[in-house]
Order: sequence, then structure tokens, then C-alpha cells
Amino acid sequence: MKIDEEGWLVAEGSEPKVVRIPTVRTYRLVVPAPLGIVWHWTSGRGGPGFAERLARRVQTYRRGVDRPASWHALVARDGVIYQSAPLLVGTWHVGRPGVIAGQRLDNINRATVGCELENAGRLRKIGERFYCWPFWTNPSAPVYERRPDPRCAIDSDRAIVVQGQGIFDAFSPEQQASAAAMLTALVARFSWPHEVCSYGHRDFDPKRKEDPGPLWADSVLPQILNQVFGGRDLAAAESAPPAAHGG
Ligand SMILES: [Zn+2]
Repeated sequence: MKIDEEGWLVAEGSEPKVVRIPTVRTYRLVVPAPLGIVWHWTSGRGGPGFAERLARRVQTYRRGVDRPASWHALVARDGVIYQSAPLLVGTWHVGRPGVIAGQRLDNINRATVGCELENAGRLRKIGERFYCWPFWTNPSAPVYERRPDPRCAIDSDRAIVVQGQGIFDAFSPEQQASAAAMLTALVARFSWPHEVCSYGHRDFDPKRKEDPGPLWADSVLPQILNQVFGGRDLAAAESAPPAAHGG
């Protein structure tokens, strides 16, 4: 995967598919190029067509009507990457202050890439089944009257227990492969070190947000980072001499 002059991802050969669905919800970066990536989950049940619909929904913006949210890339469960904005502009995925790569910023959005992962997030076991947000058909009813919403049911093989933290939706192998391909391109293009590749929304808004959750942060992403950085080092070593023909 490559990144073109403007900052659009370009898939090559058998790589994961990238679909461009541009949004107007962007603004300038305060740095020449993004300093790192912030991971998010979409939450909710998702499913076929969900990621594309979500990307289309944020293409336009009506002030005072739409929730001001956008992101650069959305990785669907089937591995397709929907890109909403070039990587050289900012999107509206955090909107809070914080520190990225040692730089204090008034707004994280002004110096980062925002990546959404189609994932149901935190799950609850109700009876014998697992459910995602909003869990209930009648969430505002008293607890004893609540009924789990069958539309929020998640296959039990996707429900992963993270010790001491709860139950979380699994990330699909296709999604992990696409995230790895994209991150490899980002690291190469922007010369990112390891430590700017693992920010999460929760790092900047811990009271309100827990995405991308412990499953991504503590088990999936570290494996991807091994692949991205380990692979690159290996490739550099293998392709060292001779380098006569270039290209
Ligand atoms: Zn988020």
C-alpha cells in the first residue's frame, strides 16, 4: 500500500481494497505532516454495508444538525478501508488537547490521523447471549423491565473476555491485515517511530471514551506493530547490498 502526493491510500496488487468517500469535515493540520495515529472503534452492531453507510453519512456537514465527527479511515470487518479524507489534513475524531510525539497540542485532531475500526466494542452477557450497545430494546426503562435487543446480539465466537476488564468484540483477521497494511504505509511515509502508532481515543478523553478498548490496545495492536516494525527491519537487512539497479 502506498500514499499518494495528496495523502490518499493506494492499494497495490492483492492488497486490501481502499474506497475513497471524501468528506467536507476536515481542516488544516498545524504540522507539515501527521505525527501519529489515534485508533477508535465504531461501537454498535455494524454488519454488511455498515462501514460504507457510515462513511457516506459523514460526507457532508450541516452545522447545528449533524454531530461534528469525522475520521480519515474506517476499516470494515471485511477488511475494506473506507478513506474519508487525505492524511495531510485534519479530521474531527478527538477534539481535545493532549500530547503527541512529545508535542503539546490544543487539539489532537490538528496533528494526527484518525482511524475507526468497525467493532461492536464492549459487550454484555445477558442470559446465554452476548449483546452490544445499546443492549436493550428499552434502555431507559427500569432495570427489571429491560429486554435485550435481538438486533444487538453478537455471535458468541466474537465475544472475548479480557481478564479484569470485561467482554469485548473480536477484531476480524481481515481487519487486522488491513490495519497492518495501512500502518506499514503510514510508518514508511511519515517516518513514524513505534510509540506514535498506538494512541487511542481513550487516552485523550478517558472520562467519556474507552475506545479502542483493551483487546485492540493490549493484544491485537502489539502484534500488528511487531509485524510493521519487525518486517521493515528485516526487509531493510535483506535488501541491503547489492543496490545497483535502483527502482
Ligand atoms: Zn473514538
